[in-house]
Amino acid sequence: MSTQTIPKRPVVVSGPSGTGKSTLLKRLFAAHPDTFGFSVSHTTRMPRPGEKDGINYHFVTREHMVKAIANHEFIESAEFSGNMYGTSIKAVKDVMDNSKICILDIDMQGVKSVKQTDLNARFVFIAPPSPEALEERLRKRGTETEESIQLRLQTARDELDYAAVTGNHDKIIINDVLEDAYRQLEDYIFCKDAASALSS
Ligand code: ADP
Ligand code: 5GP
Repeated sequence: MSTQTIPKRPVVVSGPSGTGKSTLLKRLFAAHPDTFGFSVSHTTRMPRPGEKDGINYHFVTREHMVKAIANHEFIESAEFSGNMYGTSIKAVKDVMDNSKICILDIDMQGVKSVKQTDLNARFVFIAPPSPEALEERLRKRGTETEESIQLRLQTARDELDYAAVTGNHDKIIINDVLEDAYRQLEDYIFCKDAASALSS
């Protein structure tokens, strides 16, 4: 696939926790390593098995994050499921300085904040096929405590309502069959579908 026709605009990917954002993005980065770069967020949550500091997230203390936010180092930040998350200015700049298209994986609060900036991003929402499937995925992933699963499921309802009601996303993809969802994501990002043509 040629990258010549793709807008250089950042792509913000959001959707309930457990819906499959990381799975889809991992595949996108593996397929197009020279085209896309990940905006590595900061978080105060603990790393999951296999997650690497500086790759998946910058894992920091709350104190560090509060100071950095006060120091105006962040484009946006949010409290999610008892932890802080945020996109630093540097995270996005590092990707753009490498002439890559910046991909952000952020929650609904982050989407609202980024909409207020001059990043001129495109917004993709990844929805689960059903609330039951979402819960099953969260449980099967085996990374969350029961409390964290419940918090994430509660927040998922707000995320889904926001996407359904506001029309604030350029593209909504239902991640039922992974292969189909991935194809839709690629088609949208590479402007192979009507929605991307309209929003590019
Ligand atoms: P998120 O990044 O949105 O929190 P993940 O990418 O971690 O979600 O996916 C949550 C779990 O669901 C993972 O165990 C992943 O393997 C699984 N998963 C992702 N997409 C699908 C799919 N289409 N069908 C079934 N399971 C999926
Ligand atoms: P997780 O703990 O599952 O990795 O992420 C939980 C939620 O935080 C997900 O919805 C994810 O998109 C969101 N998130 C990750 N990084 C950021 C960030 O920098 N800012 C915001 N607002 N949300 C983020």
